[in-house]
Amino acid sequence: MTVLHAPDLVEQDLVDLTRRLGEPARDLVILAEGNTSRTLPDGRVVVKASGSNMQTVTADDFVVVDVEPLIELAASAESTQRELTDALDAGEVDGKRRRASIEALVHVVMHALKPAGSPELYVGHTHPTDVVGLLASVHAATAYDDWVYSDEAVVIGRPLYVPYASPGIDLGRVYYQAVKQRVDETGELPALVLLGNHGIVATAPTAGGVEGISAMAVKGARVRVAAYSVGGVAPLPRASVEKFFARDDIAERRGNLAGNRF
Ligand SMILES: [Zn+2]
Repeated sequence: MTVLHAPDLVEQDLVDLTRRLGEPARDLVILAEGNTSRTLPDGRVVVKASGSNMQTVTADDFVVVDVEPLIELAASAESTQRELTDALDAGEVDGKRRRASIEALVHVVMHALKPAGSPELYVGHTHPTDVVGLLASVHAATAYDDWVYSDEAVVIGRPLYVPYASPGIDLGRVYYQAVKQRVDETGELPALVLLGNHGIVATAPTAGGVEGISAMAVKGARVRVAAYSVGGVAPLPRASVEKFFARDDIAERRGNLAGNRF
């Protein structure tokens, strides 16, 4: 069995993060949308189960998965949706079927590809209306080519855009390749992944970091939509952003602002 229903392994900070991301006023998710995860010290991952509402989750609404078998499916060109669905199934517990979210791969890939020596990670996947609106627009693929203001650059760094693929094994495969390529190129996980026509994935070493990155992603989307509505984006000059990133005080500010320094 590579998937376990084990509420005693679910830390309260993950439950609290999930509930905060699910608050209706934040407009990040509705109904059973969205999911969260956290690495365990032994390398396994606690991830939200399918079908539960983020705002009201308890430790009972999570399962524990092994990373290896799921990454094998994401890395294979031949894996099927049926194989993924089976690999996420924890069986029946107390008369209820427990299965990791069908979107578990967007979490597991982050935990699996984190650079050696990185701390345990928290990951939050949501569907914020403001960001999905932008990612469902004609600007989706290019909207994040440039930064639009400096605090966004500090908190989020360089986001990764992944074009639409249907949730499940198709998205898992595309997502795995895109994140792997970014890690190979830069040695770092992207703190924010933008999923075309779908949502965001925020990754940080703290629960607060996931919250901060998610909130900044929403603000960044609103700023872009506002700029497009008055004639288009005038981005920050790239050279000045690179110089800005290289400053020690900015690296420190980045770590402090959102707890998102890997
Ligand atoms: Zn989703």
